[in-house]
Amino acid sequence: MKKNDIIELNITDVTLQGSGVGHYDSLAVFVPETVTGDKIEAHILKVKSNCAFAKVHRIIEPSKSRIGVDCTSFKKCGGCAFRHINYSFEAGLKANAVKNNLNRIGGVDPQFEPITTLAPDGYRNKCQYPVSKNEGGIDIGFFSSHSHRVVDCPGCNLQPEIFSKAQKAFKDFLLKHKISVYDETTEMGLVRHLYLRRANVTEEVMACVVINGDKMPFVNELVDCFKAVFGDDLKSVIININKKKTNVILGEKCVTVFGSDHITDVLCGVKVRISPLSFYQVNHDVAELLYKKAKEYVEPNGKTVLDLYCGAGTIGLSMAKEAKRIIGVEIIPEAVKDAKFNASTNGFCNAEFICDDAAGAAKQLSEKGIRPDVVILDPPRKGCDEELIRIVANDFAPERVVYVSCDSATLARDCKIFKALGYETVKAAPFDMFPRTGHVETVALLVRAVSAI
Ligand code: SAH
Repeated sequence: MKKNDIIELNITDVTLQGSGVGHYDSLAVFVPETVTGDKIEAHILKVKSNCAFAKVHRIIEPSKSRIGVDCTSFKKCGGCAFRHINYSFEAGLKANAVKNNLNRIGGVDPQFEPITTLAPDGYRNKCQYPVSKNEGGIDIGFFSSHSHRVVDCPGCNLQPEIFSKAQKAFKDFLLKHKISVYDETTEMGLVRHLYLRRANVTEEVMACVVINGDKMPFVNELVDCFKAVFGDDLKSVIININKKKTNVILGEKCVTVFGSDHITDVLCGVKVRISPLSFYQVNHDVAELLYKKAKEYVEPNGKTVLDLYCGAGTIGLSMAKEAKRIIGVEIIPEAVKDAKFNASTNGFCNAEFICDDAAGAAKQLSEKGIRPDVVILDPPRKGCDEELIRIVANDFAPERVVYVSCDSATLARDCKIFKALGYETVKAAPFDMFPRTGHVETVALLVRAVSAI
């Protein structure tokens, strides 16, 4: 096989990046936008020693799992991996990926619960649109995959439609007032991102504009522009200052120019205050089911629960009614402020929050003699530091660890470390928090083996 060959290929698998895989002369051939069951002619683009890459030349026979693509930005923006595949097939792929990672990388074989799925579209309560200049005007949409090139996306099926209306209104506002937009190469220009959040239950909206400067011009007109879209639901307009040359979207300073500095939502019956810098689950309805599962695994009644990587405290607070004591740890100060506010406004006197690195705080808590019955871990994609896992397993030695993960590969790696320290991964439940993308969330229950007690 060589470059530019056209070969016949049966697609037998799909990666979480949305690329189909077939085999030719025992070499794996990756073909984007194909699905298991497709019979195709593939145009070979690149041949390496262990695999090859191709594009579709012709579909000879389409798979039953193939569907028509309903988005003009598919594969241009870096968002969806699976718009060409029916949703139930995608959910199965994700459940398998979690199982494979835990089995192969982690060397653990828990009881796998069925993947939880809800609506595959319109589920996001948050959207961050990068803005950039093009020859004739402005692009506002999403970065293309693995790059910082902005693809102008006038609509996105993963967001509520009203976000697209605000995106358009904001673009018109920038053009009308001739406001400059940020250019990453020259580090000049003002507007970097439009960032929107809408609370699912209260429908309160926060609109935040990220700027490379100290002051946003035409701020009254800006507020009017968002009011025209969101009406009375608009509760907060914020200017976020980010003058750094960085990939991080938000700067540290926020200036409220309209309404409140936060919005309020309700998650698992708990009123939650959400500030612009605090993490909040983007898929509210799946998050509620995930938290319910976490609670089932924690069995919080009468227990002391340590909630590490707690964000605005939402997981711990969802079980504060039943637990004896909740201790949350989070590194972002604004999120900790939200967590403390959320505890008090909901009347939970048994919840406290510490602003620190998870490993550092865990060490200090352990030195103070705190011994939680259950530890919840919900780290970012890179998973937990080994040092933290050792403190949890050796110093706290809780009866259970409930691990919430947005990357099953790092979850699997960490389950392996826990296993060596006496913790068996007994259950795992995948949740499709991000339908149509390659991401999947997992809750795992790890239990201290009898021999380790
Ligand atoms: N459990 C929360 C947040 C999960 S996201 C929820 O369900 O909403 C992961 C959180 O970990 C983020 O809030 C992030 O700010 C925080 N974080 C990242 N690195 C951290 C560290 N080293 N120590 C403590 N918290 C950290």
